[in-house]
Amino acid sequence: MKRIKTPTGTSLQIGTFWQIPVKIHWSFGFLLLFVIYTALTNGYKMWQSIGFVLTFLLLFVCVVLHEYGHALTARKFGVVTRDILLSPIGGVARLESIPEKPMHEFFIALAGPFVNIIIALIIGVVLAISTGQIFPDLNKLRFDEPAEFARYILFMNLALFMFNLIPAFPMDGGRVLRSLLAVKLGKNKATFIAMRIGRMIAIGFIIFGILYSQLILSLIGLFIYMMAGQEYDQTKIMTILAGTKVRDIMRTSYTQLHLGDPVKSVIEKYYREGEQNFLVFDSMGNLSGTISELVFKEVLKGNSESLTAQNLMSQAIVTASPDDNLKDVTNMMKEKGSAIAAVIENGHIVGVVDKNNIENHIRLKSD
Ligand code: ZN
Repeated sequence: MKRIKTPTGTSLQIGTFWQIPVKIHWSFGFLLLFVIYTALTNGYKMWQSIGFVLTFLLLFVCVVLHEYGHALTARKFGVVTRDILLSPIGGVARLESIPEKPMHEFFIALAGPFVNIIIALIIGVVLAISTGQIFPDLNKLRFDEPAEFARYILFMNLALFMFNLIPAFPMDGGRVLRSLLAVKLGKNKATFIAMRIGRMIAIGFIIFGILYSQLILSLIGLFIYMMAGQEYDQTKIMTILAGTKVRDIMRTSYTQLHLGDPVKSVIEKYYREGEQNFLVFDSMGNLSGTISELVFKEVLKGNSESLTAQNLMSQAIVTASPDDNLKDVTNMMKEKGSAIAAVIENGHIVGVVDKNNIENHIRLKSD
């Protein structure tokens, strides 16, 4: 086990299966402690306490299997899953990108709940044959009886199946809804409608959770409400980028820096010309690297007297053709960690697109 930093805070990696790591958010520890505390103070006998905690842990194993359902189906369609993250309000398989084709998203979204219904079916068949009863007695919790224990697991998987299929985008059911709408309406409109419906249901969760003291449900509602908006924004940006050609926004006038340029003069250009990201050329006029605004901000903090453009430059070079769409170029820039791309036509650099003019374009188009 090792501790790693993720964008959502500190989490603990507990294992890697099918080359996809499973991580637990730190706040999950509190939930586990709470469950153990409840088990010990509920007046249970020892075996019942153990059964109670085990039931909780198995619930999360089923959640992890659900997430692998998404992740492995995504892999079938060429979408990479960065990791599976568990938190007190559930799990999420973090995909590197949103699947391009609506039907791919449809199958990826359904695959999670499908895993739960399969688990429930298997346990159900075994229980039906061996005991003739498949549903637990929820009025009298008996965690120490193996058959009853299996019934809880079955019941939880049915609950996971049904809860996740509620069409509250970006929950699985909402994704199914979005993908079906997208076939007819396009991704943007479909996401907008799915977001609206998702947010209405989320508000319902929040109110219901408060009225009936179901704090976790309220939290899930709040989470859905925020994530729905984020995903809609993301989809809108992707649609704008996919619909723009590099030619439409590239800058044809740009400053060419050279390897030997002293940093002082580079910084002057940064302020005077209002350009934030630069291409750097060698003495033969070949493109040898790029310098981004982030680097300047770093350099301005320290002593930079003796530095040249060569010292600041990154060798990650992204090139594009004027007819490329902006989405592909942006993805390439993200991948290489470059803030600027050289636009090449007939073997010559005819302009640049950088992070800043892409962001301006998005701002302009989304109003
Ligand atoms: Zn799911």
